[in-house]
Amino acid sequence: MKTDLYIDFDSTIVNSDKSICKIYNNDYKDYDGFVPADWTKHSNWSYKNICPLIHELEDDPIQIIQDYYGSERFFNQLEFYDNAQEIITKLKEKYNVIICTSAFPKNASKKVLWIEEHLTMVDEIITIINKSGNGYGKSRVAMIEDGAIFIDDHPKNLHSTKATHKYLYKFKETDFNGDWDGPVVANWKEIERILLK
Ligand SMILES: [Mg+2]
Repeated sequence: MKTDLYIDFDSTIVNSDKSICKIYNNDYKDYDGFVPADWTKHSNWSYKNICPLIHELEDDPIQIIQDYYGSERFFNQLEFYDNAQEIITKLKEKYNVIICTSAFPKNASKKVLWIEEHLTMVDEIITIINKSGNGYGKSRVAMIEDGAIFIDDHPKNLHSTKATHKYLYKFKETDFNGDWDGPVVANWKEIERILLK
């Protein structure tokens, strides 16, 4: 029987921050004080450091970010991290691959349809509708069972499950991913080396 491999979606499989930056750079480019947002410098879940004009000019910045995440533009510009799509295809040979992701009411169906189109090999998606929009909500509770493998970019999600093998996807330092002393992977080639050896 194949081992269950749970994988987070945003900022683990796909470069969500890059897509958010593209939208911001388009929408705010004509405003005073605009500096192009650089996704490699993202470190804060509300994008305060790289998309400051949203926080300076909008009444409800979090709602704007949620709207971005729920927009057609977000999904149209969404890119995989390097090698993610090919390696997930290979992982499917050995593991039961399940995507486990938080979603907002506005982006849940679009996210599932994007996965359906671009990750056709994945046959199970667990979506947690998180209306607070803080990126983790009630975390993953204990739904990921003993014996499973779990990869996520947020330590809070990893801590909240009983998965036996947990890996932090740490592409870069952020102000929310420091609370982790377990195994870390920085890219999909590393995941391939560890899980397909
Ligand atoms: Mg994530």
